Amino acid sequence: MTLANTPMQETISTLWGIQEIDRDLFRVEEELKRLPAERAARAKKLEDLKARIQAVKDERNGLEIRVREIENQSITQRQRIRKLEEESGGSRDMAIVEACRYEVRELQREIKHSERICVEMMLESEQKVEDLKASEEQLAIEEGHFAELSEGIDREIAEAEGRKSELESTRSERLSGDVDPEALNLYNRLLSAREGQAMARVESQVCQACYMSIPPNLNVQLARGNKVIQCPSCDRILFRI
Ligand SMILES: [Zn+2]
Repeated sequence: MTLANTPMQETISTLWGIQEIDRDLFRVEEELKRLPAERAARAKKLEDLKARIQAVKDERNGLEIRVREIENQSITQRQRIRKLEEESGGSRDMAIVEACRYEVRELQREIKHSERICVEMMLESEQKVEDLKASEEQLAIEEGHFAELSEGIDREIAEAEGRKSELESTRSERLSGDVDPEALNLYNRLLSAREGQAMARVESQVCQACYMSIPPNLNVQLARGNKVIQCPSCDRILFRI
């Protein structure tokens, strides 16, 4: 590894020693964010399906209520027809008889129309019952899948947490030596800004993270090892083996 001639080179060398751990830590932390998000997305799908089922149930209830209302209306209309028939049967006045007959015909037409509507609504309601059956079967399957997925996610989270604490303890062991605090601050900032890769090796005067050439003056400073040198293109802390 590096020849640690200067205190800054020693710092850089220590940081390089934890860089690999930090890259893994970054991945583990990403996973720990992704896993609960994945579960939440699946839970949302289930909730959507439940909401759709409830909406169909509500529609079906609405249809049943409407059918009962129309049926009650038809009962009242039939009672009225019987009353009108009695009235016209007991009357000798042709004007009254005609008026009764006219109203009876109107009522009969309305009853017929209502019957047609009721049949249509009952068919629609039956279709909804079929749809509900299918949706509820689908929901049961999806709930089973979700339970499995959720268990898998719990396991993965536990594993990731375990890996994370191992990495963290290795990291703090390696960081126990003297490290320049400013350099460490910069390193930590770059870790999150550059997706877990705060440092870059320089080979043949080229940054191995972004593959841009390093200007000669920076190369000279890098060789002296008195201060932190960042890649002018990707900002990463440069390191030369
Ligand atoms: Zn670079």
